[in-house]
Amino acid sequence: MHDLDQIWRFENSYLKLPSSFYSEISPSSISNPSLLLYNKVLADHLGLKSLNSNENYLTDIFSGNYIPEASRPLAQAYGGHQFGYFNVLGDGRAILLGEVKGVDEKKYDIQLKGAGKTPYSRRGDGRATLYSMLREYLISEAMHGLGIPTTRSLAVVKSEDLVYREKVNEMGVLTRVASSHIRVGTFELAARMGDSDCIRKLFDYTLERHYPELTDVENPVVAFLENVIDRQIHLVNDWMRVGFIHGVMNSDNMSISGETIDYGPCAFMNGFNPNTVFSSIDENGRYAYANQPKMAKWNLMRLAETLLSLIDKDAEKSVELVQPLFDNFEEKFNEVWKNNHLKKIGITKEQSGDQELLNELMNWMEKAKPDFTNTFRGLVNSYLHKDDVFQLEEFQTWKSKWKKRVASADGYEECLIRANPSIIPRNHLVEEALNNGSEGRNLKDFYAILEKLQKPYDSYKSDKFQNPPLSDLGYKTFCGT
Ligand code: AMP
Ligand code: MG
Repeated sequence: MHDLDQIWRFENSYLKLPSSFYSEISPSSISNPSLLLYNKVLADHLGLKSLNSNENYLTDIFSGNYIPEASRPLAQAYGGHQFGYFNVLGDGRAILLGEVKGVDEKKYDIQLKGAGKTPYSRRGDGRATLYSMLREYLISEAMHGLGIPTTRSLAVVKSEDLVYREKVNEMGVLTRVASSHIRVGTFELAARMGDSDCIRKLFDYTLERHYPELTDVENPVVAFLENVIDRQIHLVNDWMRVGFIHGVMNSDNMSISGETIDYGPCAFMNGFNPNTVFSSIDENGRYAYANQPKMAKWNLMRLAETLLSLIDKDAEKSVELVQPLFDNFEEKFNEVWKNNHLKKIGITKEQSGDQELLNELMNWMEKAKPDFTNTFRGLVNSYLHKDDVFQLEEFQTWKSKWKKRVASADGYEECLIRANPSIIPRNHLVEEALNNGSEGRNLKDFYAILEKLQKPYDSYKSDKFQNPPLSDLGYKTFCGT
């Protein structure tokens, strides 16, 4: 046992669930680990400050080569609808060390991703490329900077071992922090476990962990669903307001906590096109930018199905209680969408005519496909409107009309700045930083863009960030690498 082990006050509450929900398994060790990234700010938040100075210890922990005394490592079982079809899955390359309590008194899972094979690995090697773990670190921290609920990244360790994909890659292990790793797919598997007690136990566990205030309401299951739906409505709206495309919204990649999880093929849209898809495997555009609300609803319906038996013995009555939540989905979604987008043009208090003003802009954007980020932020930082597309008469006419509307609105500029990042993780910059960081070279570019992306609402004047090259148009991402 190491002296510093006492810092890790792990709870291992997942072990209270029936054993079909997990497999106890330790990470497999890696050779010659080196700690490439360590998120000190997050570590402080998690109450781990005292670890900061001991790099050897941190490297051992975050590589999976050493397990602190209080941890009872496990891989979680789950299922999920992948592109519409149910599969039994589970952590094939992730191992949970346990939960810690943050300085905010909330619980956080500490999980190693790319930590070796588990009973759920199927044909996979249990490993991850350094490139993809650096990518998850960068994009998840950028999402946090944007103020969007997300799993976070505490560390990335590199190994001298290799990962074989289409080519030979360096290996990375990422430490993921989440308010839990309970997914829609966890419920889907529980409902299929053949023992009705399993779904009840998972529900009780999840309620206590995420919605303790709902324990005593009249119908906790319906209230739980309503809350989970609400969080997803806000989450997907958050994605859309910054042009984020998750890319693989399978139900195993939808967290009950309402945090963005799974940074495989995600990317940010440049030119506005609702049909944008980046993932190379999403051939039919199931998870395209504008399809995200529909797919979130679809996943939430799969969640609701798993809980019907807990609502009422009479199945019809259960459906009757749950159906309104879904009938109202679009209306609720659109309300949040409208409020977010009105803020994006500096309007906090809606007046008559505002909806039309917004629609006119969105219709023009759909036709002219201007850069999504620059369009909005350029309303206050005019250097972002230097592209020819913004000189078009239709846009100039709209802008004059908009100016008249906001002229009298107090604080519209601050509102607009708070609602619109001036920079997003541009694909070409992310690629450049990751390629330099993962091919035995250095993380200079990575740190440089990470630092900016942690404060995306500050005003930057950066051609690199604000003028994506045309070559970005055919950008493709690959998942599970
Ligand atoms: P994802 O596409 O990352 O959501 O992963 C889908 C499923 O495949 C999950 O159960 C993962 O744990 C599993 N998986 C992905 N990559 C690997 C790998 N290299 N080895 C084992 N399992 C994996
Ligand atoms: Mg996943």
